[in-house]
Amino acid sequence: MRQRNVKLTQLVGFDGWKVTRSWFETLAGVRLLRLDGVPRHRRQLVVVLERQCAPRCARCGRARQKVYEYLKPRRWLDLPAFGVKAFVQAVTARVECTHCVGACVEYLPFADRGARKTRRLEQQLAVEASGAPVSHVAAQYGISWGAVQRAEHAALLRWEATRTQPPLRFVGLDEKYLGRRGKWKDRFVTIVSDLETGEPRWFDFGRGEATVKRWLETLSDPEKSRIVLAAMDMHDPFRAAIKGDEKLAHVAIVHDPFHVMKRANEAVDELRRQVFFRLFVEDRGESGTAAVPSYGQPLRACPQDLDNRCAVAHTAHRLYCYYWIEVSEGRAKLPSDARLGSNHRTTE
Ligand SMILES: [Zn+2]
Repeated sequence: MRQRNVKLTQLVGFDGWKVTRSWFETLAGVRLLRLDGVPRHRRQLVVVLERQCAPRCARCGRARQKVYEYLKPRRWLDLPAFGVKAFVQAVTARVECTHCVGACVEYLPFADRGARKTRRLEQQLAVEASGAPVSHVAAQYGISWGAVQRAEHAALLRWEATRTQPPLRFVGLDEKYLGRRGKWKDRFVTIVSDLETGEPRWFDFGRGEATVKRWLETLSDPEKSRIVLAAMDMHDPFRAAIKGDEKLAHVAIVHDPFHVMKRANEAVDELRRQVFFRLFVEDRGESGTAAVPSYGQPLRACPQDLDNRCAVAHTAHRLYCYYWIEVSEGRAKLPSDARLGSNHRTTE
């Protein structure tokens, strides 16, 4: 029996705590003497832990503190063991720290204060919830949606408190529409993200210049000097806020290919509309379809409000129309080699 607990202690792996007992029980808490006939998903494993040394203060971390009182046994949900739901159970103590005022619950290497799940389970839930719906993770571990969200929140807070914040060099600026519903005064939020790590760094309501300036006020001069570029869509207030800050004069403004192609497509669409629906409005027949101008009709000048690209398209289209008339009336013939860009003379 002792050898089994030694092996279990090694498997459980909490420093300073050893396994003294373990058993299987039903989900309702009835201890099982035999596992025959009880399916895996209807039983759970309970592992009882016992501290091997004097308790440690949870506030200051100092070891070898005096026990003030022992509390009732508590359970923490742990990672599943070999496909079976597993709990660790332990009796914790309140300690009288020699350096802190008042008694507090001892430090536990496997769970945070007040938590009902072990840290490693919270970590696992947070990782899985980052790539799957909360409902799926909750069903997989047999816990509620709220429990998954609380575990995720706790793990993120722990991660945020213990990691070193990387310097912000490549900034992403974007706005997000919050939808028609909700009681927010602003319908948009501006999100500042770190493009190197892909994580959001700051957000606030609004999408104007003042919103970005509020973020810039939170940065120190050294932090601003480390920024290399700011990627954004072609939203003028974002650009104005960055360019309006003297400390960010060195920052390059970058637009991602999506927005460049979006603007290019809009320009081509607008050009097409101008050519086919504005320039040739007189050429369209009563049915609304484009009609070929009669032979000898003079070329109309391109209106002043259209740019050179439009004039080129206009001229090309009119030349094509005149060539079509020449061919149809027998004064020109189709080239034998009609390759695009060939030097074959098409009219006689
Ligand atoms: Zn202390």
